[in-house]
Amino acid sequence: MAERLIVIGGDAAGMSAAAQARRRRGTDDLEIVAFERGHFTSYSACGIPYWISGLVTDREQLVTRSPRTHREDFGIDVRLRHEVVGIDLVRREVVVHDLSGGVEVRERFDTLMYAAGAVPKKPAWARTDAAGVFGVQTLDDGSALRGWLDADPQPRRAVVVGGGYIGVEMAEALVRRGLSVTLIERGEQPMSTVDPDMARLVTAAMRGLGVDIRTGVQVTSLSERDGRVCEVVTDHGSIPTDLVILGLGVSPNTELAAAAGLPLGPTGGIRVDRRMRVSGVPGVWAAGDCVETLHKVSGLPVHVPLGTHANKQGRVAGINIGGGYATFGGVIGTAVVKVCDLEVGRTGLREREARMAGFEFVSVIVESTSRAGYYPGARQMTVKLIAERPSGRLLGAQIVGWSEAAKRIDTLAVALWNEMTVDDMTALDLGYAPPYAPVWDPVLVAARKAVDALAR
Ligand SMILES: Cc1cc2nc3c(=O)[nH]c(=O)nc-3n(C[C@H](O)[C@H](O)[C@H](O)COP(=O)(O)OP(=O)(O)OC[C@H]3O[C@@H](n4cnc5c(N)ncnc54)[C@H](O)[C@@H]3O)c2cc1C
Repeated sequence: MAERLIVIGGDAAGMSAAAQARRRRGTDDLEIVAFERGHFTSYSACGIPYWISGLVTDREQLVTRSPRTHREDFGIDVRLRHEVVGIDLVRREVVVHDLSGGVEVRERFDTLMYAAGAVPKKPAWARTDAAGVFGVQTLDDGSALRGWLDADPQPRRAVVVGGGYIGVEMAEALVRRGLSVTLIERGEQPMSTVDPDMARLVTAAMRGLGVDIRTGVQVTSLSERDGRVCEVVTDHGSIPTDLVILGLGVSPNTELAAAAGLPLGPTGGIRVDRRMRVSGVPGVWAAGDCVETLHKVSGLPVHVPLGTHANKQGRVAGINIGGGYATFGGVIGTAVVKVCDLEVGRTGLREREARMAGFEFVSVIVESTSRAGYYPGARQMTVKLIAERPSGRLLGAQIVGWSEAAKRIDTLAVALWNEMTVDDMTALDLGYAPPYAPVWDPVLVAARKAVDALAR
């Protein structure tokens, strides 16, 4: 009898694992059944803001592989609208609720892949039955929001609560659809993934686009009229609205895992080893937004819910389940986001994180341009570097700029991953031609300034 792999969660991590396992083991050797409670598999949640804004016209463009493709091309038995509601590690069975038919069945597994993603944070005030309040975690959530935006009466005003990258992307998407948008952030600045001095540039750009940004403001409740949300009540007054988007961050989706006794780490994510095996539980694997991982710079466990990690971790798990050998080496916190025409990139530690991890450091900021100053289209770019004192090792980098900024963070991420010092970086052989960079690339200028700061 073929070994049986059950996958919980049919998106990035789960289906990457399933596909990799299948590449290495045929259908006679490994039966794969994937349960997904939503209506889609292998979709890009990252693309939802661009579908909401209208830049991406068709929802199907966000689906990389449909259940049919998984079934016909990979021999993976995908069951949509099936929610796993229990895991029995002793009997090696999962309890599955068929959301369309209403029945509950038990399914046997030899190997289990847990890839249930994350759940949006929802404080008490957000738990309402009023229509018009949306999260944007899954493509089903995105579809519900699109339905609301297209329905009659069309909403004209929106409030986005939370200024993380999802809140910021959604604010932009709604402005592009012609809505009047207020973004509420309880911190000092939106985009707290970069230092406040860099986040200020983002705030200014968003205000320039017409987003009403209110910082230092806490939501206390939502008001409704005729079953629809009509007002966001805050500690600084009320804001009338036709729509509320919740962008308050996410937590690892581990309720089922915890109930089954899978180990959770200090961040709340499932504890896995470098091969994505759940620590101390034979035959059980986990990957993606539900796990915690190691930050290579701070050495601390972190929960970084990003698609780039989910895909890589799922692939690692799948290779190992398939009998190969692969490891996931941890993260360094690299992320990019587009806010209007502004590009924001970050890698490594922010100042606060570097301090908490116990590093002594210097930080420098340089203003430069994306291309040679005389070349048409040259735009401003701000680069910040954080370097350990006295070693000069790069600990973190942030870039905010109008064009060609975001992907420059990758140069810094490679330097950081390889533990380069800012001194080493000044000698990097980076490409130069006027349409692409000034003769001294902004990355090199920042490295030189950091070397000077370390010498003082
Ligand atoms: C709006 C938005 C924009 C984003 N942009 C970016 C970006 O630009 N770059 C980036 O790197 N990342 C981005 N991300 C994050 C990225 O989408 C996630 O990190 C990635 O999807 C995580 O993959 P996953 O497979 O771990 O979890 P998910 O994609 O959340 O998949 C988990 C799946 O499990 C299903 N599920 C959960 N519980 C059960 C159960 N009990 N039974 C059956 N099925 C279950 C869910 O329905 C879901 O489909 C974005 C996310 C969002 C929401």
